Amino acid sequence: MMLNIRFTLLDSNNFFQQGLLHVLKDFHDSLNECYRLYSPLTPVELKAVENIEIIFRSQEERWGCARCYHSAYQTPHHRQMTVMILDEKECCTLKSPAQFSINREDSVAMVRQKLRLAVEHFGHHPWASLHASGLYYCQRCRIARLSSCEKKVLKLMSTGMSASTIADMLHRSQKTISSHKRSAMRKLNVNKSTELNKMLLSQMGLG
Ligand SMILES: [Zn+2]
Repeated sequence: MMLNIRFTLLDSNNFFQQGLLHVLKDFHDSLNECYRLYSPLTPVELKAVENIEIIFRSQEERWGCARCYHSAYQTPHHRQMTVMILDEKECCTLKSPAQFSINREDSVAMVRQKLRLAVEHFGHHPWASLHASGLYYCQRCRIARLSSCEKKVLKLMSTGMSASTIADMLHRSQKTISSHKRSAMRKLNVNKSTELNKMLLSQMGLG
């Protein structure tokens, strides 16, 4: 049985991409060789990794996220496995399971080992990949998760209005306005008001 795995690379670093492609081709060949001789997966689990697409993505807005990704191969969502490409400093901040991310500083041996674990993990628990990919949302998808009230409050805030002015305008209490703001910040993944202001200033296309 041949494992037909498709690889998609979403990364702006061409140099890294070339190297990774090389590793992946090699990995695919050796994976098939290894599964032909001895497979740690049962036939049912092997079925789960047949015809999957592994998407490597860096955290750049231009690539979107797993949620808004449309596969060029028409791979359904549950057959996609997202692997984050992380920089050294991002590694400490992202909580995603290690087997679903690689580090730019990783050695070839390390990348291969992580991929093998990831593929096996996917075979055993295909749903785990969906869960891991949900840990990273692009900004567009984060904005899409805002409620209409939250959007309205942010839009008014971006014009420089204070919470009390907005509260008067919308006939709501200041407490309500603040809670909309806090919940929007949580969804947008910003911790400080100053960060939010910067984001509002650079305009996020709130409609
Ligand atoms: Zn997205």
